[in-house]
Amino acid sequence: MPKVIVDADRCKGCELCVRACPQQILDLSKGFNVKGYSYACVQDQPRCLGCRLCAITCPDVAIAIGLNGTMYRFFEY
Ligand code: SF4
Ligand code: SF4
Repeated sequence: MPKVIVDADRCKGCELCVRACPQQILDLSKGFNVKGYSYACVQDQPRCLGCRLCAITCPDVAIAIGLNGTMYRFFEY
C-alpha cells in the first residue's frame, strides 16, 4: 500500500496537492506548523493510488511517497 509522508514544516498550505489528488484524500490540517501555516494531511490513506501527483505538484518538496519498498522524493528545480 502506498504511504504518503508530508513534511509538515516544509508545507506552506498552498493546497496545490489537495487539488491535484485524483482521490481527493488530502486536506489541510486544523493545526499549524512552525511557519504558522496549516499543512497538508492525508485523510484516507488506504484510498491512495500511489500516483505521486501530490508530490510532483508540491512546489516546496514537502511530500514523499513510499511505494513498493521505494521512497519517491522530488527535488526543487
Ligand atoms: S499519491 Fe496520488 S492518490 Fe495518493 S495522496 Fe498523492 S495524489 Fe492522492
Ligand atoms: S503542495 Fe506542498 S506546500 Fe502546498 S499544501 Fe501541499 S504539501 Fe503544502
